[in-house]
Amino acid sequence: MKVGILGATGAVGQKFIRLLQGHPWFEIEALGASERSAGKKYKQAANWIEDVVLPESIKEMTVKNCEPSEFSTVDFVFSGLDSSVAGEIEKAFATAGIPVISNAKNYRQNPTVPLLIPEINPDHTELIKTQNFTKDGSGWIVTNPNCVAVPLSISLKPLHDAFGIDSLILTTMQAVSGAGYPGVASLDILGNVVPYISGEEPKVGPETRKLLGTLEGTDLIRPEFPVQATATRVPTINGHMISATVKLKNTPADIEEVKAAYTNWKNPIANLKLPFAPKELYKLHEEEKYPQPRLHADWENGMQLHLGRLRKAEVFDVSFVAMAHNTIRGAAGGAILNAELLVKKGFLK
Ligand code: NAP
Repeated sequence: MKVGILGATGAVGQKFIRLLQGHPWFEIEALGASERSAGKKYKQAANWIEDVVLPESIKEMTVKNCEPSEFSTVDFVFSGLDSSVAGEIEKAFATAGIPVISNAKNYRQNPTVPLLIPEINPDHTELIKTQNFTKDGSGWIVTNPNCVAVPLSISLKPLHDAFGIDSLILTTMQAVSGAGYPGVASLDILGNVVPYISGEEPKVGPETRKLLGTLEGTDLIRPEFPVQATATRVPTINGHMISATVKLKNTPADIEEVKAAYTNWKNPIANLKLPFAPKELYKLHEEEKYPQPRLHADWENGMQLHLGRLRKAEVFDVSFVAMAHNTIRGAAGGAILNAELLVKKGFLK
């Protein structure tokens, strides 16, 4: 399939370009960015920050304006657009009959738009049928969650299924790549921790509850548990870490029962053999010093969820540390996996 990338010059856009090299189903056909970049060769428009060589096939491509008419030859687009412009541009593409698979926050809480993690809520793709961007249903939007909601909801899912979530408290330790480029000023973050990330905390609870919601017909019934989040920026490069303590509805007998909830959990897309899906979704670390972003963020091509420090909590029921690669599992890689699921389900054809 021929794909376009909107926001191709940004941090997430570059990750798309890197990850799509050699993809068995998807080929990059067109790149779009702002007026500042449009008309330039990609190698001139983008400040390439990936630690691999800029692919030859991309270097000489001319960056386009993010206008649907300039993307008429693509089957769908991935969006890594800045949220200040993603709302209007993504709507224009969907209205023009071009499906949009987005990283931006703008449509995540729209009741007709799936907020999708294939292993967690693959059935939510049915919501696409309730969208009315086009009369024939050819244009639609699917989003992937914020880079904290991704590891949080993946780590909560087996607990939610086995015991029910009552409430939770968490603190994030978020890598600098999550702020894009140039991101956080070096004097703010080197040798330091910043205990606030603007706009981050209010997304965590609503997105996690939407992801863990149950579809009844076309209604998404969301669980109601409260989430108290503190979002901090730390001087790591990739891999967002979360320290969470959870109160469950049904208290497990012991920590072994909690571990069993993870090891017995059935991955609903295990049989689909999607190219970007990790072989093992959960890496349960037994060593107390793990997981660590620098050591583990790239495992399974950055698509694995790392869980460690799983223990009985003195307050509430269970504490753990979770970690996943924020620009791969939490952004571009997650969006590619979404597209693969949408191919298997027949929405992309
Ligand atoms: P970024 O590095 O600032 O890139 C933003 C992209 O948007 C650039 O390609 C930029 O093009 C383009 N853009 C800006 N204004 C535009 C306009 N008026 N018209 C068309 N294109 C325009 O940001 P990022 O970190 O890649 O994040 C991209 C999106 O993904 C954001 O919505 C962000 O919230 C989301 N996200 C990021 C992460 C992460 O870990 N970084 C994780 C999950 C989700 P120019 O180069 O031409 O300005």
